[in-house]
This record gives sequence, C-alpha cells and structure tokens, in this order.
Amino acid sequence: MSVKNQPNKKRRVGVMLPVPLGETYDYALPAGVSELPEGTFVRVPFGRRFLTGVVWRSSLPDEGRVAEAKLKEIAEICPFSPMSEENRRFVEWVARYTMSATGAVLKMAMSIDEVFSGVGDADGVVRNEGALPPDGFRMTAARAKLLEVAGAVPETAAELARRAGVSAGGVKALAEAGLLRKEKIVSERFETPDPSFGGVVLNGEQAVAADVLKAKVGAGFSVTLLDGVTGSGKTEVYFEAAAETLESGRQVLVLLPEIGLTGQWVDRFKRRFGAEPALWHSDMGAKKRRETWKGVLDGRIRVLAGARSALFLPFPDLGLIIVDEEHDASYKQEDGVIYHARDMAVVRAKQSGIPIVLSSATPSLETVVNVENGRYDTAVLRGRYGAARMPDIHLIDMRRDPPQDAVGLKSFLSPVLLERVKTTLERGEQSLLFLNRRGYAPLVLCRKCGYRFQCVHCSAWLVEHRDGRRLECHHCGYSVPAPDVCPVCGEADSLTSCGPGVERISEEIQARFPDARRLVVTSDVTASPERLNEVMRKIRDKEADVIIGTQILAKGHHFPELTLVGVVDADLGLAGGDLRAGERTFQMLHQVAGRAGRADKAGIVLMQTYDPENAVISALASGETNAFLHAEAETREMLRMPPFGRMAALIVSAEDRDRAERAAAALGRTAPVGEDMRVLGPAPAPLALLRGKHRFRLLLQTARNIRIQDVLARWVGSAELPPSVRVKIDIDPYSFF
Ligand code: ADP
Ligand code: ZN
Repeated sequence: MSVKNQPNKKRRVGVMLPVPLGETYDYALPAGVSELPEGTFVRVPFGRRFLTGVVWRSSLPDEGRVAEAKLKEIAEICPFSPMSEENRRFVEWVARYTMSATGAVLKMAMSIDEVFSGVGDADGVVRNEGALPPDGFRMTAARAKLLEVAGAVPETAAELARRAGVSAGGVKALAEAGLLRKEKIVSERFETPDPSFGGVVLNGEQAVAADVLKAKVGAGFSVTLLDGVTGSGKTEVYFEAAAETLESGRQVLVLLPEIGLTGQWVDRFKRRFGAEPALWHSDMGAKKRRETWKGVLDGRIRVLAGARSALFLPFPDLGLIIVDEEHDASYKQEDGVIYHARDMAVVRAKQSGIPIVLSSATPSLETVVNVENGRYDTAVLRGRYGAARMPDIHLIDMRRDPPQDAVGLKSFLSPVLLERVKTTLERGEQSLLFLNRRGYAPLVLCRKCGYRFQCVHCSAWLVEHRDGRRLECHHCGYSVPAPDVCPVCGEADSLTSCGPGVERISEEIQARFPDARRLVVTSDVTASPERLNEVMRKIRDKEADVIIGTQILAKGHHFPELTLVGVVDADLGLAGGDLRAGERTFQMLHQVAGRAGRADKAGIVLMQTYDPENAVISALASGETNAFLHAEAETREMLRMPPFGRMAALIVSAEDRDRAERAAAALGRTAPVGEDMRVLGPAPAPLALLRGKHRFRLLLQTARNIRIQDVLARWVGSAELPPSVRVKIDIDPYSFF
C-alpha cells in the first residue's frame, strides 16, 4: 500500500456495552457519519456476536486502546432517541455506589436485548395460514425452519431469522411464494392519562396532604414522606401529585412492590385518569417489554407503574417519582447489581432536580430519621377514610391459652382465636389467618433415629408441602418426593412433621370448621399477576370464609368483608441476628393488621405470641409506633448501625469450603483499621451452604462521613483471591443470611 492511499484516520467513539465491564469500547464511526451524539444507541460487533450499546463518549483520541487496524466499525445506528444525559449519569452513579460495572447497570437500563432487534422497521411478516407451497418451490432446510417459527404477530425478517437460527435470506422467497405475508408492525398504543378525568372528593386532611405534594411539583428536588395509616387514602392523595405533574407535561414514575401491581391499583388509576397506566414487572412478555421500553424513551408513556427495575427505564423527561410502600423489603435487589430501589430513586430525583414522594403506613427507620433531621418533608394522614376505623389489636399469650390438640390433630391455634373465628363465621364475615411460611411443615424428622431432612445444596431444612407431596428447599428450590419411610433407618410410619406452615393451619380449620370455605394464598398459588388478581377477586366476592396466607396478603389490598385478622405466630421473624428483624416484623404485622376493618364494619386483630413483653409485640398491641421507632433508633445509634453509620457486607463463597474459608481469613487479616471503622468476621454465614456454595461473611462498619466504597476498593482490590472464590459486595445490606 502506498503512503498516498493511506485512508484518513477513522473517527472513534467510546461505546458502553451492557456487559459486566466498567469501561467503554472504542468503535469507529460508520463511513459517511462524521459525528454521533452521546447517548445514541448503536449496534456493534463484539466478539462473534452483535450487541447494542450506547455512545458514552462522542470523541476519543485517535490512539485509543485499540490499534487503528483492529478498530471495528459501528454496524448500525438505532433509530430512536438517544439516552438522555440524566439517565447516563444515573447509570454511572449507581455503578459507583454499588461498586458494580457501569455496563452491568446499563444492562438494567436496556432491560433485554430483544428490545433492540428489528426496531425501526415498519414492515414485518407473518405466516400465511393455510397457504401451500407453489409447484417447483424449493423448500430448503432454512426456509422450512423460517416457516416453522413464523407466527401470527408481525416481526421483521431479521427477528424471524434470529429466532429461527438461520439467515434472513429465505424470507423473501417465502413471501414471494405466498407462504409468508407482509404486515405492518404497529407500535403499541399507550393511552394518555387525563389529569382532569375524575377522581374522588378528598376529605379535609387528604386535601391538605395533596396540596403539600402538589406544591412540590415543578419546584426542584424534594423528598416528602406521605405518612398515613392503612386505608387513609394515600393512593388517592399521591394521584393528585401525579395529575399536577401530567398537567406540567412531564412523566411520572410510580414504584410499587411487585405484588402491588394488581387489578385494584390499576382500577383506581383508571377511575382517576380514565386510561390504563403502563406497567413494568417481571412477568411481561418480550414484545410488551420492548414496546413499553420504547414508549418510555420516546415519551408516549406519561405514567408508568412498575416494580423496582422500572427505575432504570430511560425516561427522557421525568417530573415526579412516587415510591409506594417505601419500607418494603422487595425494593432491595439481592442478585447481580445489588441496590435498593428506594434509595436509588431518591438519587435519581436529586440528579434530575425533581420531587419524590415516599408513601407508607410504616415508614422505614431510615426515612423517619431523615424526616426528624429535617432532610425530608412530611404529609400526614391520621385517620382511615370514611367510616372505617383502625382495628383493635389484642395479644393472645400462648403460655396462658395454649392450643388444645384434638384426636388425630396437632393444634396451633389457641382456643381464644378459634372462638373468634367461630363468631366471625356466624356473622357471615371473613377471617384472615396470617402465617409467613409456605407449605405444611418447616421440618420433617424421623422419630426413631432422629434423622432430619436437609437440602443437599444448602444448610437448610426441607419444607414439607402436602399439596404436591414433596419436600422442598425454600432457598434453592431443590425438591424430592415426600418419602414414606426414613431413608436412614428404614422405619415406616416414623416420619413426623414439625411445626406449622399455611397448609397445616388450613387443615386445622378444616377439622374445626368443616363447613367453612377455605382459601390458602401464597406465592405458590399466585405465580402471575393474573392469578393473584383472581385470588383477590375471590376474596372480595366472598367466595372464601377463612383465608390462610403469607405476606403476599399483607400488602395494599382492600377487603371490605374482612373483620378478623389472626396472626398465627407473631414471634416468627424476631429471632436471628438481622439488624432489621424487629423493624421488619413490626412493619409486616402492622400491615397485615391493617387488612381488618377496612370498610364500615369494625375489625379486630388477635396475635398469638409466647413473648408478649417483647418490644415489637407490645408496641403493636399498644399502637405506640413512635415509641417503638425511637427505641429502635436509639439502639442503632448506640451501635453506629445504619442510618447512623455506614455498612457493607462481603460474602465470600466457593464450591470448596477450605478455599472460601482461607480467602475469608485472608480478607480478615488485611481488614482496614481506624477509629471510625471496624470489621466483624469472617464468620460462616447463617446459611453456610447455599446453592452448593460455602459462604463466609464479613461486615464493614464505618462512620457516616466516610466513603465506604473507597475503603472497600482499597481493601478488596488489594486482596489476591483465587478465581474459584467469589466476593460479593453488598452496600447497605438488608439480608444477613
Ligand atoms: P392507603 O393506601 O392509605 O391504605 P387507599 O388509598 O388504599 O389507602 O384508600 C383506602 C380506600 O378508601 C380505597 O378503597 C379508596 O378508594 C378509598 N378512599 C380513600 N379516600 C377516598 C375519598 N376521598 N373518596 C372516596 N374513596 C376514598
Ligand atoms: Zn437448597
């Protein structure tokens, strides 16, 4: 090649890819393109495949990390709006805070790769049902494959080919032969919510709260706690702030716990805004996901309600974030990028200079402390809406009124509670028995030799499920058919179920009240939102008299005929070393108690406990929420626990126990020391074996003014760990197993 013909140097940009890497990759602009704005979505060759990424840096020095000769070119510029600067800065912030790769966070913002296949093309193909191949048509293997996977929903040739795993070459021939038919790909329509459509007439305190929230809209960054008892109308109140934001032309994001995205919430939204809200949750198909993602990006979607991952959708013009049930534990993501959606939502609001509303009947201690030190504002609803009153809460001291076994029946319900179920049945009203444990019994053992059934992958007992006749690990899903004889001593009829799960409580109710219609509600029976909706409808339409359920029933739902809530084991969840065990139990029981007496009929709550003096239990009974929170806050402050100090967990795991232990010990030896920091551990994790991995934990605590990420980066970064050992960093840990 002569020097004269040397082409001009290619212009390069830095592209962030949705893979767990922190750095951008160099790519050359396609021929004829002189510039690409930052945020542009592009498709690029990466190894042997193509990936969609985002232009992160629009210009780079000529000599990047890739030699000119090896520099690959951007293959395609995706035809939709760029990802806004705000969204990109948010991705970077979350990556830094959680100590994850920027690409891993970007992946959450791009949801799934299918979002990008075939976008922009308006022409699609569908199978032409009933058409036969014309004479002389050559049905090659590739063409047959294309025809086989083609469906009734139009898709691009490229997408069809991708699904069929062959090249797109045959699509044209199939279309010409009349076996495929062309059809336009229509973008999904999203209804536009109308801020002045309808809605309820707010009562006095609701109107005051709504005014507080409305005043925040358009006035820059603020955090407001909407603090109101269950049934006080928080949803109706925050809808007013959403309406105000819609009036101003900006988008609204409502985060809900996964389970909150049910028909009831959607129905109320429709009544207020005259349109369906766009939804985002884990149970959506790829097409819906893609359309919703695009609808958010190009602004067709004005209000989106979603589970925690909705926070990473590329809103170009967000004006308000609402976090419903802000205390809910499901906002913490525990795998992959470990983050707390409520906390990150506050950051998103701050970066974008917009208001955020945190709504709860039992706000988290973190939020309460922020209110007390003046960082967050509040809007308070003290009473239930309308004639509904808060239920009376009574404790049943199980030492004084213990369950009475009957012939062939081990009892778990005190006569006091059973009597109340009886009178509730007689009145034709509904009871809810709450026990946060799926299955029949949490443990099965052999009475003869003492053998206990344990998971082979986890240090956990296997839970007996009679419905399905199997023993199941609730940590990894491992399951075996329920055995008839002890696998160790071979004795028949020696296996005993220990303790109750919801199925066993249902069995007791059946034995005691054979005519009562029972309904067991757990995540086992409500796998999809549709099925959950169906269960909720059954309860509302009074197709069940006694409902036995786990925490899935604790949240948000409104059952007018439900007047008795019985908590089977109020002490469950209080044991163990979890720093939030008390707070979490308090929130859950308070929430479930709030299911009783939601309409004009008075409700009552009975809680079975062996420890009525416990601070959590007695606060629930006396209704002294504030006293409880203050006591919690004092303890945490004394121990320098969050929110008064910072905390991060290191989980060291490996298939080989020795290796994990040695690596954890090595980290322990190099642990940072200082006046305002300390390291606890290493110690075997409470779940020392999980999904086949041996686990050790270390806990780093620092003062609030220390950047804990920097400390961790120096510490973990300098450790030499064998590749078979994994160290997971969890900033602000919520789970301690
Ligand atoms: P929270 O979220 O605080 O538990 P909700 O917003 O679910 O309370 O309200 C409880 C019930 O009362 C719902 O059925 C709601 O529609 C109804 N409600 C609340 N406020 C009003 C109002 N101002 N007018 C009519 N119904 C209301
Ligand atoms: Zn297991």
